[in-house]
Amino acid sequence: RPPALQLQDVTKHYQVPGGVVRSVDGVSLTVGAGEIVGLVGESGSGKSTVGKMAVALARPTSGRVLVDGVAVSEMSRRRLRPLRRSFNIVFQDPGSSINPRMTVGQAVAEPLRVYDVVPRNATRARVLELLDLVGLPSHVAGRHPHELSGGQRQRVSLARALAPGPTLLVADEPTSALDVSVQASVLNVIADLQRDLGFACLFISHDLSSVEYLADRVAVMYLGKIIEVTESDALFRRPLHPYTEALLSAAPIPDPEVQRTRRRVLLSGELPSPIHPPSGCAFHPRCPLATDLCTTSAPPLRPVSTVDGVAHVACHLVTDDGIRPSLLGAPAA
Ligand code: SF4
Ligand code: MG
Repeated sequence: RPPALQLQDVTKHYQVPGGVVRSVDGVSLTVGAGEIVGLVGESGSGKSTVGKMAVALARPTSGRVLVDGVAVSEMSRRRLRPLRRSFNIVFQDPGSSINPRMTVGQAVAEPLRVYDVVPRNATRARVLELLDLVGLPSHVAGRHPHELSGGQRQRVSLARALAPGPTLLVADEPTSALDVSVQASVLNVIADLQRDLGFACLFISHDLSSVEYLADRVAVMYLGKIIEVTESDALFRRPLHPYTEALLSAAPIPDPEVQRTRRRVLLSGELPSPIHPPSGCAFHPRCPLATDLCTTSAPPLRPVSTVDGVAHVACHLVTDDGIRPSLLGAPAA
């Protein structure tokens, strides 16, 4: 099977009064069939734009997007329409994707009808199956969205997104608008559904613990570029890029073993403007390890072999064996 998603040197630039925003700037990323790839980064790093391009809700300025081997970025809207059943997205705000006048049952039946997924007389049964899959009781079918909790609404949008049987699901911060107490249960639903249905998932989040829980691999974005892609276990155990290490060190870690070996690396400064990104390595104004080379030369994303396997990282100071100087003791930038 072809990969579920391939981004090939994709850029997305917006014209704004002050110049050009390079929201996404040369991103290449593959999500294999049935694989979960986490996409992390601060807000403004471009990860939501990548998600929209992955499901053809935004067109790249350059580069190509392929879903199941098909170049969706080059298709007309009309030719795209029937293909849309194979890729879908759920957003942070579960209310926005559900028509408030429809009952839950009608809302879940809609994609089944649009894509002719099951015969008309089997729609009702399939709706109840889908509700059951996302952990909702059948009586919810008669309710309206406003009668549901945020967690229940997100389950309904998952049921809608999965109704046509997509091979790729993009989830953009699917739990960050929810109460902390229900976030874990919605993540569990996504994990269970993925295991049972086998779709591939691009899981976009700034919440590292949910990415660690769900993802097979993790890509880290900074100012429109991917700066590290690594197997999830390896990334959380031994981040290679200084930015990844700083991100991880700022997040709470449930594992006390890891907590002991990891000290906080403070990131100074804000994310710079994507209209005027810094020269060389865009992270250099905030990097405790930056050298003169970093201010003039942009490090390419390149493969390195570590004890954990092959990783991809964009940093001048990481050796081909995946070793770089420690951030601890480095002067704060
Ligand atoms: Fe820091 Fe230089 Fe590596 Fe960029 S290339 S992350 S500035 S050490
Ligand atoms: Mg976002």
